[in-house]
Amino acid sequence: MPRLGQYGMHFSPDHQSFVQLGSSFYTHLSAQSLSSPYWVGRSRSVAKALGLEDNWLEGDEALRALTGNALLPGSQPLASVYSGHQFGQWAGQLGDGRALLLGEMRDAQNLPQEIQLKGAGHTPYSRMGDGRAVLRSSIREFLCSEAMHGLGIPTTRALCVTGSDTPIRREEIETAAVVTRVAPSFIRFGHFEHFAYNGMTEELKKLADYVIDRFYPACKDAANPYAALLEAVSERTAKMIAHWQAVGFCHGVMNTDNMSILGLTMDYGPFQFLDAFDPNHICNHSDDRGRYAYNKQPNIAYWNLFCLGQALLPLISSDGEPDLAVAALEPYKTIFPAELHARMSAKLGLPDAPATESSKAVIEGILKLLAKDKVDYTIFWRRLSHAVATNDFIPTRDMFLDREAFDAWSLSFHEHSAQIPCRPDADLMLKTNPAYVLRNHLGEQAIRAAKTKDFTELERLQELLESPFTEVTGMEAYATFPPDWASTIEISCSS
Ligand code: AMP
Ligand code: MG
Repeated sequence: MPRLGQYGMHFSPDHQSFVQLGSSFYTHLSAQSLSSPYWVGRSRSVAKALGLEDNWLEGDEALRALTGNALLPGSQPLASVYSGHQFGQWAGQLGDGRALLLGEMRDAQNLPQEIQLKGAGHTPYSRMGDGRAVLRSSIREFLCSEAMHGLGIPTTRALCVTGSDTPIRREEIETAAVVTRVAPSFIRFGHFEHFAYNGMTEELKKLADYVIDRFYPACKDAANPYAALLEAVSERTAKMIAHWQAVGFCHGVMNTDNMSILGLTMDYGPFQFLDAFDPNHICNHSDDRGRYAYNKQPNIAYWNLFCLGQALLPLISSDGEPDLAVAALEPYKTIFPAELHARMSAKLGLPDAPATESSKAVIEGILKLLAKDKVDYTIFWRRLSHAVATNDFIPTRDMFLDREAFDAWSLSFHEHSAQIPCRPDADLMLKTNPAYVLRNHLGEQAIRAAKTKDFTELERLQELLESPFTEVTGMEAYATFPPDWASTIEISCSS
């Protein structure tokens, strides 16, 4: 495999912190090349954040390296091992079955960022899989990572997607693609579960110390640093889930191996932004029982944190006594509702104040009405923001079948804000309630065009999603109701 010159993305062999953990954590291996690579999508903003030279992402060297066809300077690629609970069952050893960590680099702010290729070929952890990712799911991951970032939601990011004409077998024959993902760390709850389940306490401790050292340094000073770590991860997770619920995001596969130790949204598969508001919505066609339905996400996150707590138990308590671990998880039960209340209050343009009977009733009241009339979630909040800005509530009211019920809620909303006392802040609402979210049908349109090598739709959508609170004249179609065919789109775990 050719080595590239010292230009653009490169890694210093002395600063590969994950590599320094040792060989129990990963296997070094090279990417498997793909024929005739081409650019599908690129994020200039991620390139800039990484401090890459202008134009590096335009070049042939980047194209080859980020498809897995050439090695970047200093890169010692590896696939890491982890385990996890999938759909509530212990699944045993998993690992990076199709992801390769190229290395760690310093970004424009001198912060460490890991660069990972997803879909770069077979690894020792591929099990029955082919190590590949198809074009459609790679585009979805790319667009959604950047959409979530645009919404201000913690997430792994995506630098680019490259494609190849190499055929890939799924339900039908598709083509291969590779997403270049970026995050300070891709460590999952499942990494901890792996070493705990296998009784590898020394490695478990090494991993926990590594995560504390790099990302949760305040925990070092706690009476029990590992219980403090569990509590800190719970807090970040609670905040992430509150963001998801408020914006109407369904992840679809909240297995413990898809949960980031940094509280980042990661592993975008059958995710969906709600169209009509349905609390029981299941976005993943492979999730027959609705384990990961929209309204179950907060409890599932807690269940996953419990698994993490179980994994950390040998470090938290020498005699296996669970009290400290259980206590460390307790704050989730107050932080999550408080965070969600704050997010929902911002959607209503109200200041971040503690929950009261009245504020809770206003929030619950509108969610009940949205569910009853299956009102489009994103459009409702955007229209309400405009209604507050212009004092014209008719377009919002018209979204409901039961308009008297909306009027009654509207009255309670005004009475509540008069009590606080403050007027709902329309500017805050317009910065909180997006005009554009990555609805399934919008992603689908970009994918269909990309399959014919037309990437203009993808670029247009990407641009809107990068600034989702800024309405662009002429782009109304991206902010309107989904077409009828949107409900026929079936997104499963197939990727
Ligand atoms: P996911 O449901 O995508 O989070 O994947 C669960 C596990 O299966 C992870 O260990 C993945 O690395 C692995 N996996 C998923 N798809 C493939 C594939 N096509 N080839 C190899 N491993 C895969
Ligand atoms: Mg995964």
